[in-house]
Amino acid sequence: MPAMDALLQAQLDQRREQNLYRTRLNVASGCAATLQLGGRPLLNFCSNDYLGLASHPDVSRALKQAADRFGTGSGASHLISGHSTVHHALEEQLADFTGRPRALLYSTGYMANMGVINALVGRRDLVLQDQLNHASLLDGGRLSQAECRRYKHADYAALEQRLTQSSAPRKLIVTDGVFSMDGDLAPLAQLCASAERHQAWLMVDDAHGFGVLGKQGGGLVEELNLSIDQVPVLVGTLGKSVGTFGAFVAGSEALIETLIQFSRSYIYTTAMPPAIAAATLASLQILRRENWRREKLQQLVGQFRRGAEQIGLSLMASTTPIQPLLINDDQKVMQVSLALRERGIWVGAIRPPTVPSGSGRLRITFSASHSEEQVDQLLDALDRLGISQ
Ligand SMILES: *Cc1c(COP(=O)(O)O)cnc(C)c1O
Repeated sequence: MPAMDALLQAQLDQRREQNLYRTRLNVASGCAATLQLGGRPLLNFCSNDYLGLASHPDVSRALKQAADRFGTGSGASHLISGHSTVHHALEEQLADFTGRPRALLYSTGYMANMGVINALVGRRDLVLQDQLNHASLLDGGRLSQAECRRYKHADYAALEQRLTQSSAPRKLIVTDGVFSMDGDLAPLAQLCASAERHQAWLMVDDAHGFGVLGKQGGGLVEELNLSIDQVPVLVGTLGKSVGTFGAFVAGSEALIETLIQFSRSYIYTTAMPPAIAAATLASLQILRRENWRREKLQQLVGQFRRGAEQIGLSLMASTTPIQPLLINDDQKVMQVSLALRERGIWVGAIRPPTVPSGSGRLRITFSASHSEEQVDQLLDALDRLGISQ
């Protein structure tokens, strides 16, 4: 075995011994309430397609029609010749939706977060992040070379202390809106107040709130009615509730122009296919118009929480479609999720390092495409497994 492979293999073996080895499953269907796996249907309680738009016929049709006109690839980056009229229309739609002067498309949320933090801060600056922020935010902070500190989850007193101690020229506070693995909400009102007191900038990544929260689906920032002065940097993703692919940043004219000039993950990459942008435009129309999707989702979450309490499961304090079930033993998480799969139900098994050691969990997620009967089926399967704490 070549030297490189021998070293890599040792590392892989160690991962396996720790029971943290990750594998992929080949899904033979689109993302919907049931997924086809190995020739059998499984109830899908693991995707982030909260509104059931990832397989909506109108969205698929928009994609196909745009592909007939624009082909498949954009062929270049936005700054060369890849920025089409459809991309531009989508940016205008996102700006209008978020109530910000402008919005900018990125190819993925991961890239948006890396690119934004890097464009805004550098070596002598300070980045303060919630301990449970998404990996892309933490990685973005690291790459920026600014001083990076993490404060205890949702602990704005700890944040306040850090801000008081700092004399950095630029201070950027970064938080998930809805925390991706816990489902709880960032204390945005308090974070805004801290930011204002210390002349810091607040960046909110609302990947899981966008589409789901707020009357129109504008996310946590819409729900709390926070202005652009309070949240100058708003990130949303398009691969979750919107059901397509990509991400955006919404903010001021100066912010967006800064990103176009300086954000490396925006500049040095191929623009998303125009057909994806067209599908996203179609999806956003449905998302904004069809309030019933958000209402139904909330009903299903309520049904699940009441049912879980009845069978003695202790859930986390989440009001969103992310409903994690902590399994105290990280190793047991895989066993429980496999047992559920044998009963026809697929939930995400989340282990370290995605979550802190000792907090392995089933990450159960709901979608407006689920029925009440399907939620009952999930509760029944959980009950039969006897994992009540
Ligand atoms: C999923 C997610 C991202 C990454 O978005 P992609 O478009 O999937 O790259 C970023 N931030 C948070 C909080 C997320 O949950």
